[in-house]
Amino acid sequence: MRIIFITTVVGILLGLIYWFSRKSSKPLTVNNTCVSCNLCTKACPFDLAPYNAKGTATGFTHSDCLKCEKCVAACPKQSLV
Ligand code: SF4
Ligand code: SF4
Repeated sequence: MRIIFITTVVGILLGLIYWFSRKSSKPLTVNNTCVSCNLCTKACPFDLAPYNAKGTATGFTHSDCLKCEKCVAACPKQSLV
């Protein structure tokens, strides 16, 4: 019984940490070096297209985005920051 309680509490705490980390991280922005090569979308686990936010002041946000930054790592132009 005690182990179930501890596991539940730890699970709730980890969930809150994950939720706050997603909420607090800033949106991706796309600078003018983007050449629309689509490599960021190919790297994204959800096929999201952050480069569509090029030129926008708000940057890229999407409810499915995990902020994993795989797109950032895949960009050959360092366009995503
Ligand atoms: S990988 Fe970089 S250069 Fe290519 S479309 Fe995405 S943001 Fe633009
Ligand atoms: S941060 Fe991750 S989930 Fe979000 S757009 Fe980039 S690759 Fe996709």
